[in-house]
Amino acid sequence: MLPEFDLLQPRSLPEALEMLSAQRGGALPLAGGTNLVVDLRSGRRRPSLLVDISHLDELCAIRREGDRLVVGGGATIAQILDEPLIAEYAPSVREAARVFANPLVRNRATVGGNLVDGSPAANMPPPLLVLDAEVELSSRDGRRTMPLDDFLRGVRQTARRPDELLTAVRWAIPAPGSATAFYKVGLRKSDAIAVVAVAVLVEQDAAGVCRKARIALGSVAPRVIRAREAESALEGYPLTEERVAEAARLAAAATSPISDIRASAAYRRQVSESLVRRLLLAAREQG
Ligand SMILES: Cc1cc2nc3c(=O)[nH]c(=O)nc-3n(C[C@H](O)[C@H](O)[C@H](O)COP(=O)(O)OP(=O)(O)OC[C@H]3O[C@@H](n4cnc5c(N)ncnc54)[C@H](O)[C@@H]3O)c2cc1C
Repeated sequence: MLPEFDLLQPRSLPEALEMLSAQRGGALPLAGGTNLVVDLRSGRRRPSLLVDISHLDELCAIRREGDRLVVGGGATIAQILDEPLIAEYAPSVREAARVFANPLVRNRATVGGNLVDGSPAANMPPPLLVLDAEVELSSRDGRRTMPLDDFLRGVRQTARRPDELLTAVRWAIPAPGSATAFYKVGLRKSDAIAVVAVAVLVEQDAAGVCRKARIALGSVAPRVIRAREAESALEGYPLTEERVAEAARLAAAATSPISDIRASAAYRRQVSESLVRRLLLAAREQG
């Protein structure tokens, strides 16, 4: 049974922001509802008011702005999967969308909902973190942007204020010589929650020296994390098998996984190391 709540359907973004602001924290935005409705049913959340933002066209665009890609907070996972700009410039984001839930959920679930929900197992944060993505948060009082890495705080905790909507995610198109990769290990091939998810980005110069490295891991800590020590171990060096293996070891050491019904902590740590190594080597070849 769903608990009782009021539902407002704003016709524009300013109207939605006004509604959230007027409620002083008692309202929640409703996008695809694929997390929120589950939370309402379980009683984990009991908002007095839902503000339905799923019809706001201004939140749904995916576009290129100069050397940056911009994805509206209301863009669905299905849109990500179909968008040629994402396929061309952000293949690891597309891959995360490809292995997201099932077609029904992908048609409803939004990028904004995925990031705001703050799950450590969410698909979209790892590939967006390695792209150094920023989130745009809007309220009646204006806009602020912050790195996604600062936005994600802990298990289902983010830096979003109750009167704010996540209106966009932006990142710079990676430099030539860059390659990214994403892989999610689940208990089955589709419709599976991540046991471990890893995304990497490496940028190499003409001599094969790594100029930039990014590694992000999901489902192995209270939030999706960057493995900064591992990244530093790669930058400024050729990506030899030994160096990549050392970075993978450091990345696994940065995890703090739990044991649960899906996997043990030891398994997650071991898979983290092999996945990081495998994806770095694959990205090295692509770059
Ligand atoms: C069967 C099933 C399978 C799933 N599989 C996966 C999977 O493989 N990978 C994965 O990552 N997730 C998965 N999920 C979880 C869920 O689908 C995603 O997290 C989804 O992206 C949430 O988006 P939504 O639009 O449905 O958010 P909602 O459920 O509408 O909202 C989620 C939270 O975010 C807030 N919110 C939503 N949009 C905004 C916004 N723009 N600004 C501010 N706050 C906002 C809401 O108030 C709520 O607190 C699955 C869920 C189900 C039911």
